[in-house]
Amino acid sequence: MEDKLEQLERLNVPAMDEILGVPFKVLDDGFVRVIDYMGTDKSIVQAARVSYGEGTKQVLRDRELIRYLLRHRHTSPFEMCEIKLHVRVPMDTWRQWIRHRTANVNEYSTRYSIAIEKAQKTGSGEWRGQGNDNRQGSGGTIPAGVGEELTRQEEEVHSLSRSIYQHRLDVGVAREQARKDLPLSTYTEAYWKMDLHNLLHFLALRMDEKAQQEIRDYANAIGREIVNRWCPLTWEAFQDYRIHGLGLSAMEVAIIQQCVSGNLQKAKNLAIEYGLLRQTESGFKSTLELREIEVKLHALKVKIPWE
Ligand SMILES: Cc1cc2nc3c(=O)[nH]c(=O)nc-3n(C[C@H](O)[C@H](O)[C@H](O)COP(=O)(O)OP(=O)(O)OC[C@H]3O[C@@H](n4cnc5c(N)ncnc54)[C@H](O)[C@@H]3O)c2cc1C
Repeated sequence: MEDKLEQLERLNVPAMDEILGVPFKVLDDGFVRVIDYMGTDKSIVQAARVSYGEGTKQVLRDRELIRYLLRHRHTSPFEMCEIKLHVRVPMDTWRQWIRHRTANVNEYSTRYSIAIEKAQKTGSGEWRGQGNDNRQGSGGTIPAGVGEELTRQEEEVHSLSRSIYQHRLDVGVAREQARKDLPLSTYTEAYWKMDLHNLLHFLALRMDEKAQQEIRDYANAIGREIVNRWCPLTWEAFQDYRIHGLGLSAMEVAIIQQCVSGNLQKAKNLAIEYGLLRQTESGFKSTLELREIEVKLHALKVKIPWE
């Protein structure tokens, strides 16, 4: 006897259909908008049930199953969902964005077309200082008086580079060569398509506070405005496990066990033994890893034993 196949309906998400083509503004002139999508939370569940069989239906409801899959890093069910975005991004941010290799991309070509006229502007209160903790990052803001001067200089650079670009085009220089001195703040546009598993990876890296503010703004818009509507159960699980959850290594577990048992000296000794806390001539020095453990101890409201 032939197996009876279930009746299928196209899965769609009304909350996503409402925002198709609607731009979510990011930075001063950037945006992200959904061009198309395939799949929903239900597609993830459906794919998982093909592999696990009907049994999971009785045991795990959709939300539980999605949480299980994400918790145990099952990836292929999330790859069943795809999204195509239209993004408008300054080129320096795009340079970071395009490092994510699992996307399908078509970018606006400044060999064929005249470069987008807009360049990202920085308000006088928006200039950030160099970070102390993270040598790649920023910390605090530059005083407003200095910021005004920086913003004025920025306007001069944008205006000068644009007028030189325009002059090159006017005298017949090819667009592919004329563009070479446009600033990295010039906006570009792209169609960017990715599956949900890789999108969550992108979001985990780019929503993180260690990522640059500008790409974080885009990642937050994609996560909160789009994925939240598209696959709410997955978004909830992702936030719970990846964004707000704490992963603990075996060393961290051992240190925390000593902390919560009140054995602070033993906890400190473990940190030294593991090479996380180093004795120097001027006292103990924390490694980067230990400083990250301190953040977890703070979150758990556990006293830091080496302070
Ligand atoms: C805060 C931050 C700082 C960074 N600083 C720097 C820097 O200073 N210099 C620099 O060059 N980059 C830097 N990067 C970029 C970073 O190293 C990665 O290239 C980028 O984040 C893409 O990550 P990914 O390769 O995991 O993701 P994707 O390219 O999206 O790939 C997703 C996953 O697919 C798999 N995959 C994809 N392609 C391959 C492949 N060819 N082989 C095997 N597996 C593959 C991997 O598992 C990968 O994790 C930084 C990124 C962040 C978030």
